[in-house]
Formats: sequence, structure tokens, C-alpha cells
Amino acid sequence: MAFDASYVKSVIRALPDWPEPGVTFRDITPIFKDPKALRTVTDGFIERYVTSDITHIASIDARGFLVSAILAHQLNKPLILVRKKGKLPGDTISQSYDLEYGSATLEVQTDACGPGDKVLIFDDLIATGGTLIAACSLVQRLGGSVSEVASIIDLPGLQGSQRLQDSGVSVFSLIAY
Ligand code: AMP
Repeated sequence: MAFDASYVKSVIRALPDWPEPGVTFRDITPIFKDPKALRTVTDGFIERYVTSDITHIASIDARGFLVSAILAHQLNKPLILVRKKGKLPGDTISQSYDLEYGSATLEVQTDACGPGDKVLIFDDLIATGGTLIAACSLVQRLGGSVSEVASIIDLPGLQGSQRLQDSGVSVFSLIAY
């Protein structure tokens, strides 16, 4: 079935000046209150990846987890959790990246994936791309290759998806603002 972008857009809520002045926050929580919207979003990704050769899905803490857990179940693939610093037990590697003010660090367990694995990396939204670029680097440092990065929302004005493509990564988003 064709992906109904206008329906999903009608459900996503825009919060002006949150969490700080000048930012329009795209709130995806209403998607989870609306089974039709959640099914539309997850089916949009399942349709794209059901015939792909991805071996793993890596998802970003925390909003990325929600949809990617459904995709991992439906596509029958292992799910990798890419988490904020200090949340994952056991042996991990970490990757720091710059935010507008300060920096952030993501971590993954060292046995999450390895050579030969083809990983789809998922987050809810691409803004500057810094988060997904750091996640790509974690997967690549473990020896895996990044098949594609995917998000529900792209904000192309912030050039993150362009940065990812410029670094040689394929990008797929369901909707853009
Ligand atoms: P970035 O690393 O700049 O691409 O930012 C992406 C991450 O920050 C995602 O995990 C989003 O959840 C969050 N994020 C950044 N900007 C927004 C926004 N305008 N609305 C909602 N989430 C955002």
C-alpha cells in the first residue's frame, strides 16, 4: 500500500520554541497513541526492508527504540541498542560527537555486530546528523557495514541527511519538514 505521508504528518505534533527558543520540536508521541499511524509508519519501513539484505537493526536511545523494536520483530532481525553513555553493561565502545552546545556520547556493546554484518541504523529524526554519524562510526568500528540509516522524519534544512550522504551513507526517511 502507498505510504500515507499526509496522515502521519497530521498526527505528528509541532511544539514551537521547545526545548529552547528557536527550535520547533517534532513530537512523535501521538503516533504511539494512534494505532493507524503506528501501523502506517512501521509498514512504510517494513515494505522497504523486507526484501533487503540487512542482517541487523541498530536503534538510537531512546525514541529510536520504539519503532525499531517492531521492525526487528517483523523483519526477524537482531536489534542492537545504541545507548547514551553509562547505560549499557559489559564491554562497550563509545563515540562522542558535538552538539550545538557541548557534546554527547553514544555507546554500544562490543559483541553487538561484527565483520560481514549489514546494519540498518534507525532513529526517529535526522536534524544535524551528528547522532547518526556517531552511530555509523560505532557500527563501523566493530567491523560491521552500514547498509542504510533510516528515520521517520528528516529536517533537510539542517543538512544532516546531506552530511550522511556526503560521508557515503545511504539515507531513507518517510517524511520531511
Ligand atoms: P541530530 O544529531 O542533530 O541529527 O539530532 C537528532 C536527534 O535529536 C534525534 O535523536 C532526535 O530525537 C533529536 N532531535 C533533534 N532535533 C529535533 C527536533 N526538532 N524535534 C524532535 N527531535 C529532535
